[in-house]
Formats: sequence, structure tokens, C-alpha cells
Amino acid sequence: MNLSSLDSKPLTQCQICGCSHLDSILFLGYVPPVNEMLTVGGVPNVEMRFPLELMRCKQCTLVQIGYEVDPRILFPHSYPYLSGTTKILRENFKNLAQESNALFHLSQSDLIIDIGANDGTLLAPFRDLGAKVLGIEPSQAADVARTKGIEMVKDYFSQKTAQQVRAHYGSAKIITAANVFAHIKNVHEIIEGILHLLSSDGVFISESHYLLDLVQTLQYDTIYHEHLRYYALGSLMKLFEQHGLEIFRVKRIATHGGSIRVYAARKGQFPIHTSVTQSLKEEDEAGLTDGACFRTFRQRVIQSKLDLISLITDIKAQGRRIYGIGAPSRASTLINYVGLDDGLIDAVMEVAGSHKLNKYIPGTRVPVLDEQKLYQDQPEYVLFYSWHIAEELAANLRKKGYLGECIVPLPSPRIFSTEPVYV
Ligand SMILES: [Zn+2]
Repeated sequence: MNLSSLDSKPLTQCQICGCSHLDSILFLGYVPPVNEMLTVGGVPNVEMRFPLELMRCKQCTLVQIGYEVDPRILFPHSYPYLSGTTKILRENFKNLAQESNALFHLSQSDLIIDIGANDGTLLAPFRDLGAKVLGIEPSQAADVARTKGIEMVKDYFSQKTAQQVRAHYGSAKIITAANVFAHIKNVHEIIEGILHLLSSDGVFISESHYLLDLVQTLQYDTIYHEHLRYYALGSLMKLFEQHGLEIFRVKRIATHGGSIRVYAARKGQFPIHTSVTQSLKEEDEAGLTDGACFRTFRQRVIQSKLDLISLITDIKAQGRRIYGIGAPSRASTLINYVGLDDGLIDAVMEVAGSHKLNKYIPGTRVPVLDEQKLYQDQPEYVLFYSWHIAEELAANLRKKGYLGECIVPLPSPRIFSTEPVYV
């Protein structure tokens, strides 16, 4: 790959307001892209790494990443992450469909469009309610959605896609974007595309990881290069205002360790629900609006890193083994920032069929191996990288026969035991 031809660069301007007064909140080191994984046994070679820094706009308060990595480096292959495999996501989308139906009284003629529709997990409950559904998704996950009988446009969302979809399917009563709205480049163009597709009384519903949860529960592992913007309600309102969109309802939800579901429409279409003023007040009180909370955030992240190293060092000093569970994209920041190399973590487990099997975790020589090994080896500890769903994962491992103890790395590292161990 010819690095010079690729488009990676520092983000020196705010992605919402264009202001160049950006303050550094936290620098997490130089982190390798997640999808470049060397085969186990391969000779180490030069590895790409990119600066990972969290910045805050002085003018509009948007928190964003400090360096933009070319998508061709971040996504060199199309290995789709499938939403349907996570129970909490399935339940959340069912709730979203029911809530939308209760609020907007959907009829059979209403079209629901999901941007970044993945495997159709969000749209399935809307379809089950009787609405017309259409997914827009560029990856192979679109094929999975089609096997569920969901109509898909296999493409990136852009103004051009929006025009084509409108010409063919008409305008949408509801447009959803779950966990993609903070990741897509050119956010202003995306919103214009959404407005083009949305009927005059239509509603745009986005779900994004919530900055308030990130700060309060120290989820610094959700800071990674694919994740370009970290929304608070205050910054989202400023973004939408520029396009004549008004946020009229907000709800905090549990997905991805804490997210925000935001309902927006053309200005004046809906009365402003009390949840909007309430959430803005919460953000003010938490120090998000004036940025005061970030003064302690960096120190809390550093302390959390030291505590995790200390916990793992104690376990290793006793000659015990630690296996990591799952190798999600978000694990890369934690692994590389804390330095969880092969001296600390013996192996990482992935389920059979994963494209990550028999590869090294980027930036380390920790091998990713078949989860069956966990039940054969019975290491004394496992470490959850997807710690925000630790309960679900622990119950699953127990059911399959794992007897050891579980480590949750964040916000404060702790040993997590659901049931008596070594019975
Ligand atoms: Zn700004």
C-alpha cells in the first residue's frame, strides 16, 4: 500500500462549525489500525500507527478525534460486524420500533429507511409492525439483511444515493441512523441527503454513543480512529440547527455502554419534549457544556490504566493465565494504551469462523485463537474487551463451561464473578 497516496491527516478544524480553536483533552498514543492483522508465526515487519487524540472545539463544544485515517487503511477488507449477533442491540431496536410506532402512529404506507442498515436488525421490528422498510448499507452485511427478506440498497449513503432512492421509493416518514452518524465523514453532506429523503413531516432518529456516558464511566476505549465525533446533545443541536433541523425528543439508552437516541424534524413540526431541556440541564451540571469535566477526565483515565496494570501484574506474579475475550475494534485502544502485550495476556478468544483467528492483535504478539481453547485450557482469568456487555458474555461463557474468573477492565478494573467458580 502506497502511504503517500492515501488521505490521512490531522483534523485541525471542527467538523461542525469549522472553528480551528481545538483544545486537547487526552492523547492516547500512536495506535495501529485494527484491520491490519499479521498471521500467527509471521515475521514482524513495519507496522502503521496513527496518533489518537481527543479534541474539543472551543466554539461549538464538539468533541472529535484529532487525526483522520484514510478509510482505505481502516477498512481494507469488507468484514461486516453483524448487529444481530448482540442481544442488547436486538432488544434496543425492537424498543425503537415500538416507541416510534407509539409516537408517530405508523401506517402500512409509511416508508422507514435505515442508513448503515447492517444486517437489517434495526429494520426487522419495523417491518414486523407492518411498515415498508428499506436499508442502505455498503458492506456484505446487506446480503445478510436480504436473506431476512429486507429490501436493501447496497451502497454508501450520499446525496447522490439519497436522490436515487427518493426517485425510486419516494420520501421517508422515518429515517434512522444507529451508531453510524458519528462515524461518517462529511457530516453536513449526509444531513443534506437525509433532508432530501425525509418527507415534510418526517422524523430523523439517530443513535450515537453518548459523550456524557463516555466521560462519566471512563469509556476511553470507545475513542478510536473510525469514531470521528463524540456527540453531546448540545453539540448535536448546533449541528442540526445549521440545516434547519430541530431536536424535539431525547432518550438515553444502554447500547454500546451508553448512547443517546435523538429525534429530530424540520423546525416547528413537533413540540419540544421536556427530555430535551432536561438532558441539556444534565450536560450543564456535568460540566460538559463549559468543558469543566475534561479537566479531571484525563487524570481519571491515567489512574484507571495504572489500576488495570496493577491488577494484571498481581495476577501474573502468581503465575496465573489471562485470556482476552473477543477482539472488537474498540479493544485496540485499550490494548495499546495500557500495553496489554503477550507478557500480560496469553491469548485472545474468538468464535469459530472469525476472520481474526490465527492472527496477532495489532501492535502486539498476542494470538487470536478459537474459543474452544478456553474450555480446554480453563485459564484462571479472562479479560472482557467488550466490558460494556460483561454480564451477557459471562453468562454465555459459564453456560459453555468456563470455570475461572472474569476481569472487567473499565471504568475501575475489577474481578467479576457471577457464580461460584471451580466447583
Ligand atoms: Zn465547533
